[in-house]
Amino acid sequence: MEFVSTRGSSSPVSFNEAFARGLAPDGGLYVPRHLPLLPQTILVEEAMPYAAMAWDFLRLFDTDHDPDHLFEIIDQAYGSFSDTINAPLVQLDDKLFVLELFHGPSLSFKDFGLQLVGSLFQEQVERTGVPINVLGATSGDTGAAAIHGLAGKKGARVFILYPEGRISELQERQMACTGAENIFPIPIQGTFDDAQAIIKELFGDESFTKKMRLSAVNSINIVRILAQCAYYIHAFTQLPPEAGDEMEFAVPTGNFGNVFAGWLVHQMGLPVDRFVVATNENDILYRFFTTGEYRPEAVHPSHAPSMDIQIASNFERFLYYHNEKNAEATKQAMANFQKSGSICIPNFDPSNFVATRSTDSDILENIRHVKQKYDYIVDPHTACAFQGLDTNSNATRVVLATAHPAKFPTVIREALGVTPTEPTLEQIKKTQLVKYPVAANAAAVRRFLEENGIE
Ligand SMILES: *Cc1c(COP(=O)(O)O)cnc(C)c1O
Repeated sequence: MEFVSTRGSSSPVSFNEAFARGLAPDGGLYVPRHLPLLPQTILVEEAMPYAAMAWDFLRLFDTDHDPDHLFEIIDQAYGSFSDTINAPLVQLDDKLFVLELFHGPSLSFKDFGLQLVGSLFQEQVERTGVPINVLGATSGDTGAAAIHGLAGKKGARVFILYPEGRISELQERQMACTGAENIFPIPIQGTFDDAQAIIKELFGDESFTKKMRLSAVNSINIVRILAQCAYYIHAFTQLPPEAGDEMEFAVPTGNFGNVFAGWLVHQMGLPVDRFVVATNENDILYRFFTTGEYRPEAVHPSHAPSMDIQIASNFERFLYYHNEKNAEATKQAMANFQKSGSICIPNFDPSNFVATRSTDSDILENIRHVKQKYDYIVDPHTACAFQGLDTNSNATRVVLATAHPAKFPTVIREALGVTPTEPTLEQIKKTQLVKYPVAANAAAVRRFLEENGIE
């Protein structure tokens, strides 16, 4: 399968190249040249092991690796999950289910994408014989998942910048307590945007990225999206037969990666009636799906920090499909967005999407409500996907649980008066932190990479 840019000015590339590049040279995002129909067998094979099902799906897109080799790569990626089902579907009520996506090593759904990214990086190093330095910035969960995807892997070193004091203590510990020598968590004095700007500047210097064999880890790699598609199929095949005909997925949303993955599988034939885009008070996507106007505003810190985003980096992919794969129109829209700061779609039809918005007090209320009614504890991100539940239709709803509640003890304590725990988090509370503070400017980070990068 070939991958093309949403802006259409770069040549199509193979799976391996789309993976290695991340961003297309014309500034667009890679998408598959076409979306194949799901093989009918994939939808009826219930109780298939997760890795086998993911393989059945991913081999439609990865035609670079020999299928047996691809299976090994996938199997290795998901072997570190604490639950052998990887993504268990928990029933709360007749028509209400939770898809638990937090059984990976960093306890968020981002492990599904980034464990596979880690395995693919390792395979790339083995295949090419060229070791790599992986660089990224994080506001919390992505960094932890990327680090766990690559910790201890040969031929790769990982450098993750984060704003000191602005991520939770547990998120920092998940990055700084792995004990792996190839991991370099880098706190900087500044904001997430400052960290992001440093990364952008370093990747903008082509001779430096070449010399250092620098690879990016960020939210726009198409492989992360494709890896996430698999659990929607998995959820569907686990639903009991009496679950009913009408169904919807409710997805806590920030960068629009997770819910977009579901929508892609729907385009390939998964019978879904609705995707609920659940935002927190950083509600750019709620405003977009209710008005047709996409306009970033200032970011407010919320109880669901991994969704504190005002530019949803996967939105361009949605736009591309909304424009019926017209890359020229997408390029124009993005150029106008740069100039005017907004995108407006007249007479916008959101088709399969509906959106909700949760304030911090809604989040607390939803955590309480779910505990009271179903005796189940959701984390603050997942809580957003319970917004407006009772006023909704008769559909069977699958809520995607994106993080383990124990990752956010302060909010859960505020809502319920109890502190959830989780064994791996208890373990790292006792472990020595290893981190490498660097001054918050590109020159200092560059020097650090030159001194500590793999040769
Ligand atoms: C990243 C993240 C989200 C948002 O997912 P997107 O793919 O960016 O929409 C939601 N919940 C948690 C816990 C996250 O870490």
